[in-house]
Amino acid sequence: MDQILSRILQKVSENPDYQSITNYLRSRSATPQVLINPQATSTHGTFTAPLFGNPNIPPAGVVRLNNYANYSNPSDIAPTVLHEMTHATQMQLVNQYNELKQKPNKTDLEKQFMGNFEKIIGEQGSMINPQIAKFSPKFAEKQVGYRASGDEALAFALENSNYKNPPDKSYAPPHVDPSFATELMLLLDQAQRVQNQQIPPQGR
Ligand SMILES: [Zn+2]
Repeated sequence: MDQILSRILQKVSENPDYQSITNYLRSRSATPQVLINPQATSTHGTFTAPLFGNPNIPPAGVVRLNNYANYSNPSDIAPTVLHEMTHATQMQLVNQYNELKQKPNKTDLEKQFMGNFEKIIGEQGSMINPQIAKFSPKFAEKQVGYRASGDEALAFALENSNYKNPPDKSYAPPHVDPSFATELMLLLDQAQRVQNQQIPPQGR
């Protein structure tokens, strides 16, 4: 692996939430490929999910990081890696939920996870904005287009609750992101326990 990239990944791996989400992705064999764009781009990073009809994107998706002078300080890009990996995690939570929907004879743990998923994320992310409204009705209403949207809210919640944002980048009232991040990590913990259940015992 690229030396700069491995320094960046080493840095962000110090973060406990990053450890949790990457453990989860690994347990689902769904760790996205991480690449540094050869050219500088207008965003810090992107996550590309596999789209129907595009065989070039692997099922776990691809994270691309911007090539700003190759990041002499890996800490500068760590929040972006966490953000993009949260997108990958959200995609897997949706996949896992959809898999369980097909499964007959669900366990209690599976039912708990599904109930919590329906409360926090919902079909097509429909519950994300209502969840934000619970923490801040004004913000949920005002920012419905982007920052509080089903696509971006969880990624920002985890990024901003783990890394201090400069004032011009604090999009949400201070309590919104930490509150939402806490809910997401509880859901992830359930998802991980469901996932662990599905691994057949080894060596028997
Ligand atoms: Zn994003």
